[in-house]
Amino acid sequence: MADQLIRATAAQGGIRAVGAITTRLTEEARNRHKLSYVATAALGRTMTAGLLMASSMKRTGARVNIRVKGDGPLGGILIDAGLDGTVRGYVENPSVELPPNSKGKLDVGGAVGKGFLYVVRDIGYGYPYSSTVELVSGEIGDDVAHYLISSEQTPSAVVLGVFVGASGVTAAGGLLVQVLPKAARDEALVETLESRVAALSGFTPLLQAGKSLTDIFQDLLGDMGVAIFPETQILRYHCGCSFDRVLGALKMLGEAELQDMITKDNGAEATCDFCGTVYQASRDDLAQLVVDLQAEA
Ligand SMILES: [Zn+2]
Repeated sequence: MADQLIRATAAQGGIRAVGAITTRLTEEARNRHKLSYVATAALGRTMTAGLLMASSMKRTGARVNIRVKGDGPLGGILIDAGLDGTVRGYVENPSVELPPNSKGKLDVGGAVGKGFLYVVRDIGYGYPYSSTVELVSGEIGDDVAHYLISSEQTPSAVVLGVFVGASGVTAAGGLLVQVLPKAARDEALVETLESRVAALSGFTPLLQAGKSLTDIFQDLLGDMGVAIFPETQILRYHCGCSFDRVLGALKMLGEAELQDMITKDNGAEATCDFCGTVYQASRDDLAQLVVDLQAEA
């Protein structure tokens, strides 16, 4: 099944639900960054969370950045997800592997450790909105739910899952179910949702059982008047980096630094952290940047 996202509402608009299948894009990230099992799970969960969060934004070009900074061996995780269904991301230490946790699952919480979750929402105009919360467990799903409740005041249930086998990622995705402000004081509704989501034994078993996102929404919210939007949005791993952007970044180093690179290094090499593309700027490229800077001065 292609990577995709669908949206639904229930309880007369009091509940908003989003579901995403991210198997292929998580496998692409694993290949691009040569991720270990636990790093694949950590990055896949965070990319899925970003896509789910970006999906409720309104304006073309809106994006969510999530940075997870814990004291565990994985180091930081950074992802960038858009309302347009694109996502990219990387982890600081992609090869870290840990033994399974006490539940026999990939120990994402142990790899991440204690620390903070930073979220930046770029709504497509003006200043981006940013906020930080302490990590709850480092398992990502709990942490994102905590962020949505404490920073955005929206009671939210988040289920994220990545299944990595010997041949790669065979199932990945997640659900975000939120009780909107008009219904947030309906404690019975919030409790019902929480207990239903908690009763799910993760997300990947549902995919592995052959369920579609529509099936999952029907099971979860069918008796609450669920209305599933007909549009299916395609999700994909995509990095917007380009040689022009690399040149722009090099130019910001200033004339002295550029001259130094021309004489000492005979050029410059830059690797994009998100997609691994290596850009080579030649002597001539750098010399042109110097000419541009002098013309602007
Ligand atoms: Zn890139």
